[in-house]
Amino acid sequence: MNLILLGPPGAGKGTQAKRLYDRHKLVQLSTGDMLRAEVASGSELGKLAKQVMEAGQLVSDEIVIGIIAKRIEAPDCKSGFVLDGFPRTEKQAVALDEMLSEKGGRIDGVIELAVDEDALVERISGRFACAKCGAGYHDTFQRPKTDGVCDVCGGTEFTRRKDDNAETVKARLQAYREQTAPILPYYERKGLLQRVDGMADPDAVTREIEGALSRIRH
Ligand code: AMP
Repeated sequence: MNLILLGPPGAGKGTQAKRLYDRHKLVQLSTGDMLRAEVASGSELGKLAKQVMEAGQLVSDEIVIGIIAKRIEAPDCKSGFVLDGFPRTEKQAVALDEMLSEKGGRIDGVIELAVDEDALVERISGRFACAKCGAGYHDTFQRPKTDGVCDVCGGTEFTRRKDDNAETVKARLQAYREQTAPILPYYERKGLLQRVDGMADPDAVTREIEGALSRIRH
């Protein structure tokens, strides 16, 4: 089964994508993570993407489509994946359908995490993650059980994304409203779109997503 999680930054796509891997072994394909890895490696592509990401704008369609086209070919994607942060424009959505249909594949379902934009700035600006295992935390909503120690792996170093600051978040939300939200009707017309309440607590969101999956024919 191939899924897309759609929703603005901070809606919980990354958290829920990780749970979809744990429960259904759907591989998480996060273009944001892939781009951050390019930036960290200092590659030419990373250099191109860095400033755009720090400004909260969208990296060019050509770049992200190229990254996804390559990643989707990998053997671990054969038994199903969940796209997190892609597609973000109509051009990307159309390119995705084309690359999948060339291989006889398709998107089976699109889940929109609907959230209240006002809550997102607080949600995002408090986020941090374990530098070793990537487990996600939040200053207010989800602190590690012991301050400074990761619950999952015991790591003691944490990182914050450079673009998780109030100013950049506003630009990212604007990019979502203007460029990404308009693709919702594209999937609605195909009968693939299901909406879940992304403001509920993460376990309730997971349950709603499980309900949505049971309604997908595959
Ligand atoms: P994310 O981790 O999904 O919030 O993505 C972080 C940043 O990476 C975004 O603000 C964009 O600058 C860039 N990015 C990630 N995915 C895409 C995409 N599908 N299209 C364009 N830019 C992207």
